[in-house]
Amino acid sequence: MRITIVYDNNTLEAGLTADWGWSCFIETAQRNILFDTGGNGKILLENLRFLNIDPVSVDDVVISHPDFDHIGGLSAFLNSNPDAVVHVPRSFRGIRYPNKVHHYKTPVQIYPGVFLTGEMGREQSMAVNSANGLVLIIGCGHPGVGNIMDVISQFGKVYAVIGGLHGFDNFEVFKGVHLICPAHCTKHKDDIKKMYPEKCIEGGVGRVIEFDGTRK
Ligand SMILES: [Zn+2]
Ligand SMILES: [Zn+2]
Repeated sequence: MRITIVYDNNTLEAGLTADWGWSCFIETAQRNILFDTGGNGKILLENLRFLNIDPVSVDDVVISHPDFDHIGGLSAFLNSNPDAVVHVPRSFRGIRYPNKVHHYKTPVQIYPGVFLTGEMGREQSMAVNSANGLVLIIGCGHPGVGNIMDVISQFGKVYAVIGGLHGFDNFEVFKGVHLICPAHCTKHKDDIKKMYPEKCIEGGVGRVIEFDGTRK
């Protein structure tokens, strides 16, 4: 399993564009999933092209919540890949395409080893199984990272946390987590790094994080 950050407030490489927003590309054993779409479709598609990710290779788009910095690139993306299956929180409205759209209210496994929290407030988070445990991917973290971890833990032990963690500051909940990539809107990046220097990975467009294969 491999995660590539394709949209973030920071970038790691010249040629990639940083912009306020979040999107990452997740290659699992069975499906290629785009989690969120950033704020601007042009920037999203340009970053994908630079990273050699063909939009058509994406099977599924998971949307965390309907804030502009997560859905801004959705229309442009679906124009370039109308066949992608879209997975949104239950109250999400506004996809005007004839795509397959699934709404989720409660925690669910959508594919073997791929889980969604269902709607918490207006936001859902995703977890993918790795050999070491669950890799939790969060959009903005509005429902609170601790609450998200509580809900997703019904599917396994959280091994890694990646994404926007907003103003989250109850860092104790990361004690049992082995890898943290605080990105996008995370306010307390420096504090998290200070507390867990050996666990933290810098975010940014172009970051690739590899995990061992899916646990059987
Ligand atoms: Zn956000
Ligand atoms: Zn948000």
